[in-house]
Amino acid sequence: MNVLVNPPRRLESYVSGRWVPGTKDGTPLLDASTGVPVALIDSTGVDFAAALAYGRKKAGPALRRMSFHERAAMLKTLGQALMDRKEEFYALSSATGATKADSWIDIDGGIGTLLSYASKGRRELPNTRVLVDGDVETLSRDGTFSARHILSPLQGVAVHINAFNFPVWGMLEKLSPTLLAGMPAIVKPASQTAYLTELVVRRMVETGLLPEGAVQLVCGSVGDLLDHVDGQDAVTFTGSASTGRKLKTHPAIIENSVRFTMEADSLNASVLGLDAAPATEEFDLFVKEVSREMTAKAGQKCTAIRRVIVPRAYCDALISALGERLGKTALGNAADDTVRMGPLASLAQRDEVRARIRDLLADAEIVAGNPDNPQLVSGDAGAGAFLNPVLLYCDKPWEANAVHDVEAFGPVSTVMPYDTAEEAVDLARRGKGSLVSSVFTNDPAFAEEVVLGMAPFHGRVLIGNRVSAKTSTGHGSPLPGLVHGGPGRAGGGEELGGLRGVKHYMQRTAVQGSPTLLSAVTGRWVSDAAVRKTGEHPFRKSLAELRIGDQLVTGTRTVTLEDIEHFANFTGDTFYAHMDEDAARANPFFDGRVAHGYLIVSFAAGLFVDPAPGPVLANYGVDNLRFLTPVSPGDTLQVQLTCKEINPRIGAEHGEVRWDCRVTNQHGATVAQYDVLTMVAKTRD
Ligand code: NDP
Repeated sequence: MNVLVNPPRRLESYVSGRWVPGTKDGTPLLDASTGVPVALIDSTGVDFAAALAYGRKKAGPALRRMSFHERAAMLKTLGQALMDRKEEFYALSSATGATKADSWIDIDGGIGTLLSYASKGRRELPNTRVLVDGDVETLSRDGTFSARHILSPLQGVAVHINAFNFPVWGMLEKLSPTLLAGMPAIVKPASQTAYLTELVVRRMVETGLLPEGAVQLVCGSVGDLLDHVDGQDAVTFTGSASTGRKLKTHPAIIENSVRFTMEADSLNASVLGLDAAPATEEFDLFVKEVSREMTAKAGQKCTAIRRVIVPRAYCDALISALGERLGKTALGNAADDTVRMGPLASLAQRDEVRARIRDLLADAEIVAGNPDNPQLVSGDAGAGAFLNPVLLYCDKPWEANAVHDVEAFGPVSTVMPYDTAEEAVDLARRGKGSLVSSVFTNDPAFAEEVVLGMAPFHGRVLIGNRVSAKTSTGHGSPLPGLVHGGPGRAGGGEELGGLRGVKHYMQRTAVQGSPTLLSAVTGRWVSDAAVRKTGEHPFRKSLAELRIGDQLVTGTRTVTLEDIEHFANFTGDTFYAHMDEDAARANPFFDGRVAHGYLIVSFAAGLFVDPAPGPVLANYGVDNLRFLTPVSPGDTLQVQLTCKEINPRIGAEHGEVRWDCRVTNQHGATVAQYDVLTMVAKTRD
């Protein structure tokens, strides 16, 4: 299919296993630079209730049958397949007004997020279908009743309603954690740029890598879709606060307590430090960062810097440097490689931004950039949604409201002065909750005061200085591993954040019961659960033969004073508690010299290891090591080693096995406890 055909392409929705055109003619979507129609959009006639039911019945069970690692592998292959096709996406992306650099953020950024979740799923999640959350809670003295939290995927459909500014990233940043969690999704891109999302979804569907119905797409209005959501569904929204509020209070969402995540307007602030005077490296970095944030995606980024908070004494210098830099921005047709800033997404959006600039003029004056007379290096000023970068200055930000309230979603920022660190924090907080803020300083005390002051009002805070200048990902870049979302006005939602984002699509359940049944439910052995002693050393068993609960109880070893001294001299650890009887006795925790903790761990390994070559390939670490009771010369150690968790690795001949290791003394007291982590072959040969 050639996506750049003339006349404009009729977009289709992908629902209930097929591509469906709307029944009406469709609304034309215009190239942001040229005004030429790119596509027609209409979703009339789509059966939304059926689409939800299809996702729930068809895709949900298929995704839930897969383990986390299987889903992660699916995301990885999908991400690679999309990377292979990205030139086609870039070609269409310029119609949205995105320059090549903007498209990189959207397309590579989106696919990169998918790949990042694939990697996180493989590395940070077990190869299971259920997640355990936190430790076991022991609820009885005799060990017959315990509890554990589990997370399992919601059995509905995630409805993702996205904004126009990132047609690819906006979809994939929500889809990645959703699919990894095991939940299908219906994606509803904003109409204005839906043709790019539609193309990417077409390519995703064509790969055949996803279970049927795992991703459905609505091009156009969502009609009565939200009337049919229930308590197993989730709705996420990115866009304007007014639409967000409307959707959040939709009767079906309230009635059924549907999870609703919102990411809306955000008056993000950036603070120049009191130490960052003109001619310092931080001052120059700040100028570059504000300029970049104003012009990347023509300022149509939810994370863009809208409020520029600057020490009063540096304001003139800042405005002059920033104004000069912004004035050099090459504005024009997004398809032109020499252009640094493209148009806004549509003429309507440009008119909207101009209207918001007029609102801002109630509190501020324009100090750089004319909103009405775009200076173009290419393109037709009459046909494209071009707007110069516009810098405003508000001299009395304490008395102003508009500069803290009005989001002009374009290349528009307002400089405002402050005198003390406390004032800078208070001004940032007047955004009433934002996605991100930043502070440019090389002064640790200023960084501490400002970051801790702003943190409760923000989802992310970036500190910029000369040290991180080259490696910093910048104020405006949400990253897959970091939370994206903010309190209050920013919508109160939280996306991404690594596995935090995955858990949003899962239900946390406290499961109580006897340890053996808890182990059966969670697939992890817990203390006091039944064990299996087959007579064969568990290290002789391959992954195929090993079972949760397989246990070895070792022989014993008595620790002598000579052992302790030998270990001390051998390793160089001659800490007084091991070597000086009087000093050890004076210590409140010991009655005399004690064995080194690492000696206990070493002796334990000597007790439980089976030395011959076999399925156990390597010991790659220990987790949660605790020394619980001092070991004195003459004490006798014994180890109980129990197979706790088995994770076969997809596409490899081995997997990871976690062993519960408990070292006790002759009185049965636990002296050390930890998890031993090993790699074990899947078969014996
Ligand atoms: P909207 O809130 O109008 O649209 C956002 C999404 O919601 C779109 O997919 C839109 O679809 C959909 N939508 C709109 N109305 C409904 C409804 N009644 N039921 C279901 N879905 C609906 O925002 P825009 O994209 O038009 O942007 C408007 C303003 O929002 C911008 O100027 C900017 O100020 C702000 N914005 C903020 C963002 C942020 O992250 N901070 C991101 C994007 C915008 P459709 O396009 O088909 O109407």
